[in-house]
Amino acid sequence: MHVERAALPLHIVATDVLSGNEIVISSGPVVDAVLARAAIPGVFSPVRIDGANQAQRRLFEERIRVDDLNFECTGCGNCCHDLRLALTVTEAIDWLQRGGQMELLCEAIPWPVEPEPGNAQAEYKRARSTPAMSGTLPVRISIILAAAFTGACPNLHADMRCGIYEQRPLVCRIYPAEINPFVALVPENKGCPSEAWQKTPLQRQGVLVDETTYHLVQQSRRANQLEAPLRTQICLELGLNSAALANEGFLIHAPESDALLAALQRIQAAPASQDTTTEWVFVSNRTETVETLLSVGATGHLVAPTPADTFRYHGFFPSSPS
Ligand code: SF4
Ligand code: SF4
Repeated sequence: MHVERAALPLHIVATDVLSGNEIVISSGPVVDAVLARAAIPGVFSPVRIDGANQAQRRLFEERIRVDDLNFECTGCGNCCHDLRLALTVTEAIDWLQRGGQMELLCEAIPWPVEPEPGNAQAEYKRARSTPAMSGTLPVRISIILAAAFTGACPNLHADMRCGIYEQRPLVCRIYPAEINPFVALVPENKGCPSEAWQKTPLQRQGVLVDETTYHLVQQSRRANQLEAPLRTQICLELGLNSAALANEGFLIHAPESDALLAALQRIQAAPASQDTTTEWVFVSNRTETVETLLSVGATGHLVAPTPADTFRYHGFFPSSPS
């Protein structure tokens, strides 16, 4: 299906990653357009749209060019502050049992048709999400189970040692490597000091050569994929069925810790079959987004000026109208 052939006039707003400007996609395959709309730097990768300036494309490719990288952790502790750590179900249970706080970051990707075979980026997104409906619009729900803390991690000792080093989450073991295969590892984006990038080979020509890190990344990707239905199930157990539009923001649910722990334990003990009947509702801080979603059959509304205590809206764009 093509955007220009939609039953209703359809224009999908995406962001040009090169200029930072918004672009309006009014033609071409719907799947490419919604995936461009749903790309999240660092989580879901950008999508190329034909017509982009060739010079800009070359600049983009230059920016994501991956050099050979060495890495050896200096133990500086920079990466253990002000974080949301994506955890597996078992890690989340352990985190809560240690008294930590967890959040559920929810987003929904419009998914009107299945992408063409061979679309690796779409397949990556598909594998980490679950099918659902928002009104009459097919969507995919993507949830991150995140340990959240401001300041130092509750497990970080004053001398910057990790207090749960042997049991630390997978993401902590993998850092600074990237888990998403479409995101290049850029040292400037990491908290590691320059001396950390000098010694042991980590990757060559963009390929991880450190065996331990390589296997941890594979393990993390498998868990992320296998547990996608469980993460959605946790939301539904807790009565949470609202999500932000992917790439526009996150709806951050912060359920009471005991209730979340009980739901996680129930689901781990007895995973249910996938529920695709629950209606999901988009929440946005932008009128044009809500109007576009409603025009293609989705249900959604603007975030309330005083959101419910149980969730926060974290938008990547200013509210409109402001
Ligand atoms: S669990 Fe350990 S390694 Fe992970 S952020 Fe906390 S202190 Fe750092
Ligand atoms: S910021 Fe980098 S060097 Fe510092 S503790 Fe974290 S992984 Fe190690």
